[in-house]
Amino acid sequence: MVRGIVWFRNDLRIHDNEAFYDAIKSCDEILPIYIFDERIFRGYTKFGFRKADRHRTRFVIESIQNLKNNLESLGLHLCIRIGKPEEEIYSIAQQIKSSWVFCNRERTQEEVDVQDALESSLWTIGQELRYYRGKMLYHTADLPFPVTQTPDIFTNFRKEVEKFVSIRKPIALPEQTIRPLSLSIDHGQVPSLSDFNLAEENGDKIVIKGGEDAAIEQLEQYLWGTDRVQSYFETRNQLLGTDFSSRFSAYLAKGCLSPKLVYWKLKAYEEERGSNKSTYWLFFELLWRDFFRLMAKKHGNKIFNLGGIAAKPEINQIANWKIIDKWTQGKTGIPFIDANMIELNSTGFMSNRGRQNVASFFIKDLKQNWIVGAEFFESMLIDYDPCSNYGNWNYIAGVGCDPREERYFNIMTQANRYDPDGEYVKHWLPQLAHINSANIHYPLDEDRKDYCNASVPLSLWK
Ligand SMILES: Cc1cc2nc3c(=O)[nH]c(=O)nc-3n(C[C@H](O)[C@H](O)[C@H](O)COP(=O)(O)OP(=O)(O)OC[C@H]3O[C@@H](n4cnc5c(N)ncnc54)[C@H](O)[C@@H]3O)c2cc1C
Repeated sequence: MVRGIVWFRNDLRIHDNEAFYDAIKSCDEILPIYIFDERIFRGYTKFGFRKADRHRTRFVIESIQNLKNNLESLGLHLCIRIGKPEEEIYSIAQQIKSSWVFCNRERTQEEVDVQDALESSLWTIGQELRYYRGKMLYHTADLPFPVTQTPDIFTNFRKEVEKFVSIRKPIALPEQTIRPLSLSIDHGQVPSLSDFNLAEENGDKIVIKGGEDAAIEQLEQYLWGTDRVQSYFETRNQLLGTDFSSRFSAYLAKGCLSPKLVYWKLKAYEEERGSNKSTYWLFFELLWRDFFRLMAKKHGNKIFNLGGIAAKPEINQIANWKIIDKWTQGKTGIPFIDANMIELNSTGFMSNRGRQNVASFFIKDLKQNWIVGAEFFESMLIDYDPCSNYGNWNYIAGVGCDPREERYFNIMTQANRYDPDGEYVKHWLPQLAHINSANIHYPLDEDRKDYCNASVPLSLWK
């Protein structure tokens, strides 16, 4: 009797899941497991933010509920625990006398530490951890360079891969009979926010629902349902609304959606309804995601360090909490920044344009330690991914491998360009709704006092 444990991590899906499928092929009985790692769901970052605040925790809970349902339709019962994966899985592996634990391999330090610890303890009972892939568009074995030689400049990376390397097709669920564990164990329950001492807050809005089913629905809608992908290039820098960009990021980050599936659906869509700059650009953005993952593999922990990938010395370490609190709460007094931060706090999401602006403002105008900002994003974003988050912050902090050294976003220029009538600001800051559009980005102190009492340095109004 060969028993296998499938450890679901950031691959919360049935489709195109190599680890799961190999377990089906190799084992007589399967126990799927998900562990809510207490260090993430109850823990804190170095600067004291919740590691996964309520939005991402809610998203993961929904994704686990959906995964549980989908596994049940295959006759499997998901086992759920809260704790340390290396301890919980080890103890179950010992109890059920499994042969292997199948999982997707992670590449960033905290995740690697967990998988290494589990692997070591499994060895002590004659069991093994079997690793699989599934996070990127490209298979690293297909790349024309070893990971350590990945070009550090995105454009060079893109040129070396996009025309020459094909993207593998998603793999299909094996046809073998799938058998659940025949032993009786406690399968646990899907937790709720309160199990992590979290609760929804006033003003919270759910804009992206977790789970593989919701992910597939979003993919279908964004392509065939609404044809919004046809205008992605023109709309991608917008701020207000839910369909100016794909909204795939949280699904990709938690693995509810396979990037290969997105790619091949996009190709099928182009065949049927035509390709244009916009349909290409969605692929282009997915390349950024692969690029940051490869950068993290190549440069390891540098992406988390103050000096970044570039290992720059003398990077600003100031963390003035009076200023930081204003930024995190959306009370800096600059409506364009505050609206974005309020959106992040209320939904766990912010547009790419918004992220670039608030990050640049934090580093270049408020002159704060970029790691604090990146940690706040880590805490709040439903689509948090270590490679994409810290990779993008590296870029904006000027410690990545950006050929343009000084990437400064002039906030007022950006506000006027991307929110010319102030609709976005007024949506998230209804206290300013009475101000006419021409002045919305420059409210007087008496207007701003309804939501904050910050006094904005004159230099920022330029
Ligand atoms: C400071 C900062 C932090 C960020 N942190 C994250 C993060 O933790 N997780 C995350 O997924 N994205 C992050 N991004 C990238 C980007 O903002 C989001 O992926 C995007 O806004 C999500 O919306 P969407 O799915 O509608 O994206 P779309 O515009 O529709 O793009 C399609 C997909 O391409 C990928 N993508 C697009 N832009 C980028 C990018 N710059 N870097 C990496 N992948 C990209 C995403 O997977 C996205 O879902 C960050 C950007 C900045 C500037």
